Amino acid sequence: MTDRDEGMAEAAGDARWRALWAAPALVRRRAAQVNRPRMAWGGGVLLLLNLVHVAVFRSQPRAADPRVVAWANGIEIAHGVMALLMLALLGVLALAWQWERTGRGTAGARLAAAVELAGTAAVLGFAVTVVAIDQAVTPNVSPFLLASLLMGLLMLLPPVRSLLLYLAAGSGFLLVMSAMQPDATLRLSNQVNGLTACALGWLLSSMLWRRFVEHETLVEALRDSEAELRRQQQRLRELAVRDGLTRLWNRTELRRLAERELALAQRHLQDTSLILLDLDRFKHINDGWGHPAGDAVLQATAGVLRRLVRGSDEVGRLGGEEFVILLPQTDLAAAAALAERLRSEVAALVCPPVTLPVSASFGVACMNGCLRLPAPEAFERLYAAADRALYGAKQAGRNRVGCAPELLPP
Ligand code: GH3
Ligand code: MG
Ligand code: MG
Repeated sequence: MTDRDEGMAEAAGDARWRALWAAPALVRRRAAQVNRPRMAWGGGVLLLLNLVHVAVFRSQPRAADPRVVAWANGIEIAHGVMALLMLALLGVLALAWQWERTGRGTAGARLAAAVELAGTAAVLGFAVTVVAIDQAVTPNVSPFLLASLLMGLLMLLPPVRSLLLYLAAGSGFLLVMSAMQPDATLRLSNQVNGLTACALGWLLSSMLWRRFVEHETLVEALRDSEAELRRQQQRLRELAVRDGLTRLWNRTELRRLAERELALAQRHLQDTSLILLDLDRFKHINDGWGHPAGDAVLQATAGVLRRLVRGSDEVGRLGGEEFVILLPQTDLAAAAALAERLRSEVAALVCPPVTLPVSASFGVACMNGCLRLPAPEAFERLYAAADRALYGAKQAGRNRVGCAPELLPP
């Protein structure tokens, strides 16, 4: 591991610890997304259990001991109230979900977060109430132990928040035990058990939260590096097909596009034209004003070509001061007219500090749509014809357009 890697790992570790106490909004949002179905399922199951308890207690024959009667009534009422509370919480949860679906995302998320806290507090409070009632007939505190551990396991809550909840539940439990359990030994034993359950519940909750934060941090980092990788891939793809100076297609890409276009043109019996362009006496510009000035002229020329061609045309730089324009579905006359327009625009270029007039010579060639040739050969012939026409334009004095005869089927 290099020093840099170690530094990054340390920073990531620090960030994770910080996130444990002050988790970023994204992690909290993700935690809320995980909590929501758990609340829905947990709330539903608890509601069912409450109803089953009420039904079971109702079905029992009435006891003779008034203490047992009071206990059974208390348990029935507690479960009944809890069932209603769960129903209300599920309703509010459904409302929050509805709000989020209908564009009131922030209000929905706030409501769901409130249900998260209220639901956890309600379950812990319910467990305290049940064990308080239970003390009339039994020293049993297992509902509170179960609820403390289950809440720690089920709900993803930031440690500070869950600490406050467990502190409140633990205090309530201690008070209830003092008030409801008359036997000093059982009271002490229950209080110790209850506090242990609270501590374990909080520990469990904090461990799961830390795991969750680590997981989300890693997922986020992975997403970032994936996006970076995609950006790099895109850059590499661009570098592979574009000319670095003018951002026009490079020779290889232009040739690939041209061959595809020629194959299509033969299928649809359409003419395809090609314009070659070579700046005149460009060496003089380089020699007189230096390469950077020459580069600026090349970029200005590329700008003219880009500006004047149609969206369906393809413009490339073959290298040096030679450019090429592929014109699909274009006959020789239209291509020659475009070349003439390009010639006059290039001749009008002013590229300070270069004072020498800029101009270019053009070679135009056209392949008739009825000509049947393999695409690579078709391109070679079209290119060679345009090159000969360009040579002719140079010979004839430069700053002019030369046209090759149309390439026709034999
Ligand atoms: P002609 O009118 O016959 O075309 O003459 P020319 O001077 O334009 O032609 P020549 O082929 O002799 O010179 C082309 C010059 O283009 C030579 C080379 O230094 C220059 N060149 C090639 N690539 C680049 C480039 O990327 N930037 C610059 N500034 N110059 C380049
Ligand atoms: Mg030249
Ligand atoms: Mg040249």
